[in-house]
Amino acid sequence: MENVPRIINGIPQPIRRDGAGGIDAGPRDIMRDIENPDMFVPPDTDAGLLPNLKFSFSDTHMQLNHGGWSREITVRDFPVATTLAGVNMSLTAGGVRELHWHQQAEWAYMLLGKARITSVDQAGRNFIADVGEGDLWYFPPGIPHSIQGLEGGCEFLLVFDDGSFSDLNTLSISDWFAHTPKEVLSANFGVPESVFEYIPNDQVYIFQDYVPGPIASESVPSPFGTVPYSFTHRLLAQPPIRTSGGSVRIVDSTNFPISKTVAAALVEIEPGAMRELHWHPNQAEWQYYLAGQGRMTVFAGNGAARTFNYRAGDVGYVPFAYGHYIQNTGTETLWFLEMFKSDRFVDVSLNQWMALTPRPLVRDNLRVGSGLLDALRKEKWPVVKYPEQAPAPQEED
Ligand code: MN
Ligand code: MN
Repeated sequence: MENVPRIINGIPQPIRRDGAGGIDAGPRDIMRDIENPDMFVPPDTDAGLLPNLKFSFSDTHMQLNHGGWSREITVRDFPVATTLAGVNMSLTAGGVRELHWHQQAEWAYMLLGKARITSVDQAGRNFIADVGEGDLWYFPPGIPHSIQGLEGGCEFLLVFDDGSFSDLNTLSISDWFAHTPKEVLSANFGVPESVFEYIPNDQVYIFQDYVPGPIASESVPSPFGTVPYSFTHRLLAQPPIRTSGGSVRIVDSTNFPISKTVAAALVEIEPGAMRELHWHPNQAEWQYYLAGQGRMTVFAGNGAARTFNYRAGDVGYVPFAYGHYIQNTGTETLWFLEMFKSDRFVDVSLNQWMALTPRPLVRDNLRVGSGLLDALRKEKWPVVKYPEQAPAPQEED
């Protein structure tokens, strides 16, 4: 039964189709109620206690700088999401996220425009690359790096393998200089103290600079060569796994060897299609919605399940091993990222599990007949869409 709030005088009311609920005439944020129909009038299969599993970048503090902006979702805003933290950042043409490093690994997905990234590893091997929409990068923990917007600027998503990370609390080159005695800087570099007269007094974080020239004019030859594993990967350019209703592109240490602590899947779900019922036997899932809108019900066992609505710019979370699906509820294609603090992407398909289990066991456990058993698939289909189904006749198996 389709789950829609009752509309009275053009306003959605918390009344289920069976009449449960009643009119809300009091204070309310109607825009948010409209955006969250499955929280406003939950499916009657929802029950029990589950924590909040949704947080929107639109509900975060925007850090505005000359050269760009950033906003982040960490355990401070979204306590359940302990494994990963996310930052949404934009840099103007020439805008720089300054030279810095941190204890956490950094995984990033380019949303718009072009950027140049630089890095140097512990052996003096360097890295410089230009990235565009659909590309990603990975900086291992502790490895220094920078990001700069190219012509037209850029926007990207950063994901860190620690939910308590903050991008406003990293180890920055300007901050270190500012908090080191000038005579020590002088002794370290073998230059007079006067050289440091104009250094910044504090962490710069993001600043406006000029758009750099082509890579060839900027790259610094290292006597130790370049990093052995590329820090970038072209995820959107990767051939997807295509099934009825959409596609999936998986990236982890098997096809992007440097990415030892973050694995991801870029999922495309057509209108009317869904990411099938499944779970992940290794880690919690952190999601970022790139386009479109959808809903997810998370099943926690012991009768508990809760449904949330998501749209572009939202973050979702699925605690370790909890069952879930994601259904496209809109008229455009839904795109989202499934992210894991792991070297591998792994999932268990409910459909495949049932297909590869003795038939009588499934039949008697669920009290189902051949109508379901014959439709099970031994191959995994991450995204599914079926033609309209006619009501099935009663069957015996
Ligand atoms: Mn960083
Ligand atoms: Mn999943």
